Amino acid sequence: MKVVVDCLQLLGGNGYLKACPLERFMRDAKMNQIGEGTSEVHKNLIGRHLMKTAAAIPRHPCLDLEPDQFGAA
Ligand SMILES: Cc1cc2nc3c(=O)[nH]c(=O)nc-3n(C[C@H](O)[C@H](O)[C@H](O)COP(=O)(O)OP(=O)(O)OC[C@H]3O[C@@H](n4cnc5c(N)ncnc54)[C@H](O)[C@@H]3O)c2cc1C
Repeated sequence: MKVVVDCLQLLGGNGYLKACPLERFMRDAKMNQIGEGTSEVHKNLIGRHLMKTAAAIPRHPCLDLEPDQFGAA
C-alpha cells in the first residue's frame, strides 16, 4: 500500500488518472487489506492466538521470587 501511495504522490495528478495503471494498482493493494479478512480482523486473530500460546507456556520460577530474593549483595 505504501509503495503505491508513494508512487502516486511522485506522479502527482497523472498518477491519479484512470488512464494510468497506478489507479488499478492502488485498488489492488487496498484489496490486500480488505479481502479474505480485513487487516484489523487478522490482527485480532493473531493477538488471540498469541495470548492463548503465551498462557500455555510454563511460568519461569524466577518470576515468583520477591525482589529481595535476587541475591543482591
Ligand atoms: C472485490 C472483492 C472481492 C472479494 N472476493 C472474495 C472472495 O473471493 N472470497 C471471499 O470469501 N470473500 C471475498 N470478498 C469479501 C471480503 O473477504 C470481505 O469484504 C472482507 O472479509 C471484509 O468483510 P466485510 O466487507 O463484511 O467488512 P466488515 O466486516 O463489515 O468490516 C468493516 C470494517 O470494520 C472492521 N471490523 C469488522 N469487524 C471487526 C473486529 N472484530 N475488530 C476490528 N475491526 C473490525 C473491518 O476491519 C473493516 O474495517 C471480496 C470483497 C471484495 C470487495
